Formats: sequence, C-alpha cells, structure tokens
Amino acid sequence: TDIEELLLSRIRDVADYPEPGVMFKDITPLLADPAAFTALTGALADVAARTGATKVVGLEARGFILGAPVALRAGLGFIPVRKAGKLPGATLRQAYDLEYGTAEIEVHAEDLTDGDRVLVVDDVLATGGTAEASLELIRRAGAGVAGVAVLMELAFLNGRVRLEPALAGAPLEAL
Ligand code: 5GP
Repeated sequence: TDIEELLLSRIRDVADYPEPGVMFKDITPLLADPAAFTALTGALADVAARTGATKVVGLEARGFILGAPVALRAGLGFIPVRKAGKLPGATLRQAYDLEYGTAEIEVHAEDLTDGDRVLVVDDVLATGGTAEASLELIRRAGAGVAGVAVLMELAFLNGRVRLEPALAGAPLEAL
C-alpha cells in the first residue's frame, strides 16, 4: 500500500551496527518526517482499536517514542516497560535471554490490572525475546494480551514463531 511504501522509504539500513555483520534498521528518518510519523502512529492506533486494547505498553526505548502517541490517538493510557532498575515504584521483573547473556525488564505492578487488555508496541521485532518477556509481565500482572504491534518484523530471525506461545492466539501485527 501507499502507507507501507512511505514507511519503508523512511527506514535507513545501517551496516555493521551495533556490531559487525548486523544490518540495523534505523527509524530516525521516519520520526523526522511528520507525514510518515503520523501515518505510522495512526496505523498502530488502528490496531489498538481493532484488537479492543484498553492500554498500550511501550518497550524502552523506541517503543516509548511510538507507543505514547499511539496511546493518545487511541484514547488509551500508556504504560512504560523499562530496563531493570529505572522504575521507582513496586515492579514486576522478567528476565530473558539475549544472544550473549540475559536482560531484565520491569513494569510498575499497579499499572496493569485483571480487567486490562494490553497492546504491546515497539519499532522492531527481531528475535522476539523482548516482546515475549513483556507478554510474560502482562500476564503475571493478571492482565490480558490484546496483541503485539510493531513497525517492522525481521522475519528471518523467526521472532513470530518464538512469540506464538506467549501470544496464545492474540495477533502479532507488523506494518
Ligand atoms: P528482540 O528482543 O526481538 O531480539 O529485539 C527487539 C528489540 O531490539 C526492540 O526493542 C528493538 O527496538 C531492538 N532492535 C533489534 N534490532 C533492531 C533494528 O535493526 N532496528 C531497530 N530500530 N531496533 C532493533
């Protein structure tokens, strides 16, 4: 579609970042273009509406940049999922595996409740580890999962397959 072409045209490939052999998808040109940024957040807000989400979770850090305007456009609250140690209140913490080692993310426990259906927003789905851990957090908080919505899915990394059990039938939408 026209929107897909617009969005794709504003994503820059950066070779050998953050390490040799990786082709990084840089979304900063898209953020700098108000027409593309508006189209992107509108399309993600449509996913929030379509999936019946009651809250939007954004994953640090680019998921904050996208998730906050998506939440506002959808008329929903925004909940940050942060790297461990950044949130001041009582949190739930979830560890997940990286290529080398592990990472941990957190959410304020009181931000998600059992009546919620949560849409997770991020820029890129790569291996799916980050999104999978966020879905674990949402379920541990007692909330339901409306889905996962990303700008881009790096399909060759099979994140969709990894996410399937945690999604439990909820949609993964990659624009
Ligand atoms: P995963 O946990 O799926 O392997 O990695 C996804 C996380 O890493 C996302 O939060 C995403 O922002 C970041 N990420 C991984 N690869 C890329 C990339 O090529 N471009 C951008 N912008 N983010 C990436």
